Amino acid sequence: MLLIPCPFCGPRSEDEFTFGGDATLVTPKEEGNIEAAADHIFLRDNPKGWHKEYWVHRYGCRRWMIVVRHTVTHKIKSVSLATAINQ
Ligand SMILES: [Zn+2]
Repeated sequence: MLLIPCPFCGPRSEDEFTFGGDATLVTPKEEGNIEAAADHIFLRDNPKGWHKEYWVHRYGCRRWMIVVRHTVTHKIKSVSLATAINQ
């Protein structure tokens, strides 16, 4: 079981959270480029190592956060609130 240290609620089971996706993705700026839009929506890397991810504490404080998690060991390096500055 993964314990995620919520900045507001403390360490909680991952069952209380919902994964929100890759926190490093950048939305393509140009309009009309269907290939770039499709790649953005459907293609994902499967990184091995540290990865920034969005998680929401769905059954707790309901805040969105950015979790830096190792995809092999599931160890968590840091958790911070997701704000416009992080995006
Ligand atoms: Zn929380």
